[in-house]
Amino acid sequence: MPAMRFLLTTFGCQMNQADAQRIRGILAGLGYAETVEEEEADLILFNTCCVRQHAEQRLISRVQALTALKRRRPGLLLGVAGCMAQEHQGTLLSLLPLVDLVFGPNDIETLPDLLEKARHAPATGEFEIRGGFTGEQADGIVLDRPFSAFVNIIRGCTNFCSYCIVPSVRGPEVSRAPEEVLGFVADLVGRGVREITLLGQNVNAYGRDLGMAEGFVSLLERLQDLAGLRWIRFLTSHPRDFSAAAIDRLARLDKVCEQFHLPVQAGSDRILALMNRGYTRRHYLDLVAHVRRAVPAASLSTDLICGFPSETDAEFEETLSLVREVRFESAYMYYYSPRPGTTAANLPGLLPEEERKHRLARLIEVQNRIAWEESQSLVGRTLEVLLEGPSERTPGHLLGKTRTGRAVDCAAPPSLVGTFQAVRIDRARSWTLSGTLLTPP
Ligand code: SF4
Repeated sequence: MPAMRFLLTTFGCQMNQADAQRIRGILAGLGYAETVEEEEADLILFNTCCVRQHAEQRLISRVQALTALKRRRPGLLLGVAGCMAQEHQGTLLSLLPLVDLVFGPNDIETLPDLLEKARHAPATGEFEIRGGFTGEQADGIVLDRPFSAFVNIIRGCTNFCSYCIVPSVRGPEVSRAPEEVLGFVADLVGRGVREITLLGQNVNAYGRDLGMAEGFVSLLERLQDLAGLRWIRFLTSHPRDFSAAAIDRLARLDKVCEQFHLPVQAGSDRILALMNRGYTRRHYLDLVAHVRRAVPAASLSTDLICGFPSETDAEFEETLSLVREVRFESAYMYYYSPRPGTTAANLPGLLPEEERKHRLARLIEVQNRIAWEESQSLVGRTLEVLLEGPSERTPGHLLGKTRTGRAVDCAAPPSLVGTFQAVRIDRARSWTLSGTLLTPP
């Protein structure tokens, strides 16, 4: 009998990419093969994100577009996983009656049961909300690239930034026990993984719920000792919780890549307070200065929201001046849009969309120029690159990533995929670099 096939589409952040590794692992264990064709799939799953409302609308249209296919093939199962499933739970099925199974990010382990039930009965949309990390084993995940893995270390968030829906959807912070993380990563390294990205909504809070002080950097120190592991990355840091002591300690760990994603969101103290970010502009700038002193090769990236309710022109200029002062290598930039269910959605002073868009265009212009200039400064340097796979644009070339997360393109044979190589940078665009392999095979 031919294998059952599944098609998985993942939206949103790296946490969802990590959950996708687990979903693929479970489905492979059940004998499913992956496909990219809707027509040949027996199961179509959407791993969703609820951070932005337009992502939800996109999901609804994607599912509705499957109506004809589902009528033609009644055995086809449709599922919604991830944050949107968690947020809407029972109501999702009245919104999308075609859906057969619904499960949240903490319920991935229930997928075999849900599939079994979905084959015999209509979905109810009821699911048990569980927290923490249950039964996630290294041999139970399927990696996109066999040498690189995402590793969840903390789920949930207790910060309640006023614009963000995540804490009410993903629940409070729950850290994975250090021994479990170490065992998981050691197993991955045994399977050939050389690069890991530790994930959490706020990795700097790692271990707080377990009663640990500086739990995150202690975990990094223990991972540093794992033979065979080459690079350790992490996402996302919270500027309030990243202590100077932690930065000094991680600066001594040569496996920890010099890549710091430090979301600042805004440059004005009044807006930062309205966002409930828990730090000031001064605190943020001092943190950046500390990172650069302790880790001179550090690359900094950030998230920025402009046009927050009641933001004045002068306050927006403070965001621009912060961006000019820090000189981020890259930034995710958005204009504010209200998210129902958040405190900020009820704040007075929502700016006209035109004005929010206008501010975003100015912000992008300033940041893009900085990114381009920072990229040019890398030309002529030799960087260590992990070659990840063939370039889609240039036949005969491979694409890879530097320690700071920069994409690099160079001529190299496919046999070097998954290896670390020295590449001299010859040309730079805003983000992608092109270079010459200095260690030909
Ligand atoms: S830190 Fe703030 S923005 Fe990030 S997930 Fe938590 S509440 Fe949302």
